[in-house]
Amino acid sequence: MSSDRYPFGEIEAKWQAAWETSRQFRVSPDTSRPKFYCLEMFPYPSGRIHMGHVRVYAIGDLLARYKWMRGYNVLHPMGWDAFGLPAENAAIEHGVHPAIWTYENIDNMRAQLRKMGISYDWDREVTTCDPAYYRWEQLIFIRMLERGLAYRKRSTVNWCPSCQTVLANEQVEAGRCWRCDSEVTTRDIDGWFFKITEYAEELLAWCDRLPGWPERVMTMQRNWIGKSEGAEFDLPVAGRPGLKLRVFTTRPDTGFGMTYAVLAPEHPLVAALVSGPEERAAVERFQSEVARQSELERTAEDRPKRGLRLTARVVNPFTAAEIPLFVADYVLMTYGTGAIMAVPGEDQRDWDFARQHGLPIVETVERPAGWTGEAYPGDGVKINSGFLDGLAIPEAKRKAIDWLVQHGLGTAKVNYRLRDWGISRQRYWGAPIPVVYCPACGMVPEKEENLPVVLPRDVQLSGKGGSPLAEVAAFVNTACPRCGGPARRETDTMDTFVESSWYFLRYCSPNYDHGMFERAAADYWMPVDQYIGGIEHAVLHLLYARFYTKVLRDLGLTKVDEPFTALLSQGMVIKDGAKMSKSKGNVVDPDDLIRTFGADTARLFSLFAAPPEKDLDWNDHGVEGASRFLNRVWRFVVPHAEELLTAPPARAGAATRSSNTTSTAEGRAFRRTIHETIARVTHDIEHDFHFNTAISAIMELVNAIYAFEPAARDRMPAGERAALLREAVETVLLLLGPFAPHVTEELWERLGHCGSLFKQAWPVADPLALKRDDVTVVLQVDGKVRGRLTVEVDAAEARVQDLALADDRVQAWLRGRAVERVVVVPNRLVNVVTRA
Ligand SMILES: [Zn+2]
Ligand SMILES: [Zn+2]
Repeated sequence: MSSDRYPFGEIEAKWQAAWETSRQFRVSPDTSRPKFYCLEMFPYPSGRIHMGHVRVYAIGDLLARYKWMRGYNVLHPMGWDAFGLPAENAAIEHGVHPAIWTYENIDNMRAQLRKMGISYDWDREVTTCDPAYYRWEQLIFIRMLERGLAYRKRSTVNWCPSCQTVLANEQVEAGRCWRCDSEVTTRDIDGWFFKITEYAEELLAWCDRLPGWPERVMTMQRNWIGKSEGAEFDLPVAGRPGLKLRVFTTRPDTGFGMTYAVLAPEHPLVAALVSGPEERAAVERFQSEVARQSELERTAEDRPKRGLRLTARVVNPFTAAEIPLFVADYVLMTYGTGAIMAVPGEDQRDWDFARQHGLPIVETVERPAGWTGEAYPGDGVKINSGFLDGLAIPEAKRKAIDWLVQHGLGTAKVNYRLRDWGISRQRYWGAPIPVVYCPACGMVPEKEENLPVVLPRDVQLSGKGGSPLAEVAAFVNTACPRCGGPARRETDTMDTFVESSWYFLRYCSPNYDHGMFERAAADYWMPVDQYIGGIEHAVLHLLYARFYTKVLRDLGLTKVDEPFTALLSQGMVIKDGAKMSKSKGNVVDPDDLIRTFGADTARLFSLFAAPPEKDLDWNDHGVEGASRFLNRVWRFVVPHAEELLTAPPARAGAATRSSNTTSTAEGRAFRRTIHETIARVTHDIEHDFHFNTAISAIMELVNAIYAFEPAARDRMPAGERAALLREAVETVLLLLGPFAPHVTEELWERLGHCGSLFKQAWPVADPLALKRDDVTVVLQVDGKVRGRLTVEVDAAEARVQDLALADDRVQAWLRGRAVERVVVVPNRLVNVVTRA
């Protein structure tokens, strides 16, 4: 079997070396051409490339090579998201230093990527654990500190006791750690935050101004930012003059339906509201129970809400009535003011809670006829609402806010679900946070000239306790940058999402050492024109990168508002119904695939098997099919090379075309197939990335070549046949090049070309070739000739049928009769068969 195969191993090595030697994909700014910045999300150096990598890099390389051929100056870089926990875990398990583990993995993966033959500019490789990289984010950290965009505060965090690490909300799954499945607890710790909330409004506004992003990603980002508009106002505590609770609501119009109020158990006023040791003890018990739950659990819709009624009562300012006050788990301190007015008539959570605790429910919106539900969140006319009665909800909201303002009780208020970005990690393998704690001066940023604060090499990693850096005396003990006295360094490191928030800017000038990046280079290349990566990064990485770019813009470092003009989120690679993973034992190793079938086959398969945004279901037949197709191209071109070389190269001068020499109908039809393929493939790449249908179109053209070759032998002069075949074959190579670059480059050379295929212009469909000749079709009704019709050759049957039925002469014979069926003989006749 393998003896039939073209020598892909030899060819792939040859062209990888040739592209490297000629530095074909090394780029620099060039204002004479439009630029195209094509970027795949850089990988974490886990050590091995997996099929998910093959898929995303094949997509990126296709687009990069396609854009080269369209005349763009293409930046296509690669690097390593090199900090992170796996290196630290490997160190604990195997005793190998995270730096050694990481750099060895990078070497392995780079070698694997080179065997895929991707058009990277390897001079621009960036590695985030290099102090020459992270020193710049330390500098930006200090700038952010100066502007109040970085700050330190104590907060409650999710804590995995086994991983000894802080977990983000989305790393807690059903109360358990996403990595190790341990039960998650909470902790109060001091940590560093980036003030992403300051940019909430701008991040949200730009969600409507990035048409190149998938709508579902934008929706996820909008929901994550979670803007809600409403009012904030005070509820006086009954009998406690001067003491009041501030509440936030998105429905100020429902104030007359407020039958109780709720505080988050962590609310700072709780302590002041309890009276007597008994109530205090009960409240503290309740607080510690709630503290064991994650926010996700507390706010889950399908679980009972737990609450504790306080003896204190508050006053509803709309009705002047005294109402009960609760602490309850479903209200979070981190949203709004940590206190709510409860309106069970219109809010389902409040309704559930009210039923559970026997509290009154007042409807303030008229229900639609036949409504049998519980809380009613929909539109309607206000009822039971005093001065708001009879109004529609939007107007009632405005009027309620005006009323609160007039009475000095509150204001209109916008709230966001988005929280500030906690960037502190109690880990070793990350970028040190460049601040120092001095007994005399307090917290002091490191001096700029002392950057980078280099991560020390000599460290003991046990996986237990807090920050490993706290144990490294040579690192911790330092001099205060301000007074020179003895001081201690910060021992937390930065979240690795900080490194991935600006690597795309570093690629523009990766060796620049006077700053984060060279302004002119970034101005030329940015923004990224096409970003490609997995949907799992839809929120965090992409939102952080957008935020960080805006901060850099406001620091005067870049002119772009947004880092990524367009985004392609590719699906996962699955096998036997599950994501490929070591634990499931369903991993296909790309190295094996490349060894058996070649990199071109691996790439073609992953582009052909599914549209990029869908999951790709692995199947061995698909790989074999991709391999067979490339062999089919090879087996045509190599034996015909001598004949094809007798014809002028089709691409030499744009218009020295076989059209000039084509005199036969077969020749014209064949040439139309060639140019229809060009139009289809170009359209499919440009619109919605339909790479799979583009490949199908190329396969059809190859079939047409195989059919044309013997058929044309006697029907036209040899020169004409050779010219047409050459045009067809060269078109196949040009169109297929970005999908399978090695084999096409080799065949291109064998057809006598000396320049690289990827320096050729992408073919353009010739409108003359696309034009179909007309034929005359006979129109019959019940087998009798009734007229004639002129249509294009090979017009679609449905179209010919429609034209025939609409024809006046046919219509005249159809009066009073029902059409039973219509027979279409392509390019010859249409017979309409009637029933009397
Ligand atoms: Zn864990
Ligand atoms: Zn000091």
